[in-house]
Amino acid sequence: NADLALHSAKTSGRGSYAFYDPERDYESGRVKRLDADLKLALKKKQFELHYQPIVDIRANRVNGFEALIRWRHPERGMISPGDFIPFAEASGWIVEIGNWALTRACKDAAAWPAEIKVAVNLSSVQFEKGDLYGAVTGALSASGLPAGRLELEITESVLLRDHPKTHDLLHRLRALGIKILLDDFGTAYGALSYLRSFPFDKLKIDRSFVRDFGTPNERDCAAIVQSIAELAKRLHMTTVAEGVETADQLAMVANAGCEEVQGFYFSKPVPVGEIAATVSRVRQIFSRTLENSA
Ligand code: C2E
Ligand code: MG
Ligand code: MG
Ligand code: MG
Repeated sequence: NADLALHSAKTSGRGSYAFYDPERDYESGRVKRLDADLKLALKKKQFELHYQPIVDIRANRVNGFEALIRWRHPERGMISPGDFIPFAEASGWIVEIGNWALTRACKDAAAWPAEIKVAVNLSSVQFEKGDLYGAVTGALSASGLPAGRLELEITESVLLRDHPKTHDLLHRLRALGIKILLDDFGTAYGALSYLRSFPFDKLKIDRSFVRDFGTPNERDCAAIVQSIAELAKRLHMTTVAEGVETADQLAMVANAGCEEVQGFYFSKPVPVGEIAATVSRVRQIFSRTLENSA
């Protein structure tokens, strides 16, 4: 049975079951099956968004939440985006999945306190296929969410082609009052040139610079994070440090001048029902820290 064969396919190397393995499946006939699975997942509403707080460490409060997609598969359980987004991009389903995520995130955020924003990840494929501008404005008007509370996260792959249409689209989205963020900053070849080609509102410093802090792989992480934060400041952008897990890492990125922090130190991504509890949990973390330092 081909289905069972796919469902129990074991990935080599990682030693764990993975539903999809891009390298293996792209070349095989299984692609067709994956395609059908994604289509069904959309139809059966098997996708969900989890939310991770983005914390302002100057004001000591939650600034917003990043929407992170998961696939609740009936047999395989929760599948992380890294295991299906590449397929959704290759097959084109990312356009529909991405539109769903935009709509869902705007609706969810419209019910949150007015000072809390929502950040949505976009794939480069959404810039090439489909009507991204229409999807964004449609999600805003359907939810009633003010544009100023929506942030869009893109990676360098969006700008890779340096297509005039892409720049035009980004400028039009920004003109609505939406903030444009450059995700995973520091990992791309030519990352600095992207800062010249588009006026981003925020840089998200890649997790790798934070993760290796204090380990033998450190190699000047603090200096690099500080330089990025200074550069961002000069270009009138704020910085978000991703992947902060420990108090030491938090101190490092705070000293480096990062304004915002995202990471397991404050919270893992949570289901939408836990937004309010997460906001108060972050508040407790701050009051505890202040007590300790008093
Ligand atoms: P990203 O946008 O850079 O999101 C941050 C990732 O880092 C998330 O993984 C998050 O759970 C993880 N993370 C956050 N803090 C920590 C930490 O302290 N330690 C560790 N170890 N990890 C941390 P996740 O949810 O697996 O998402 C992975 C990537 O999938 C995202 O990276 C994003 O590129 C993509 N993605 C997620 N949702 C969507 C979506 O709706 N559309 C598109 N196109 N891509 C998405
Ligand atoms: Mg992101
Ligand atoms: Mg990121
Ligand atoms: Mg990342």
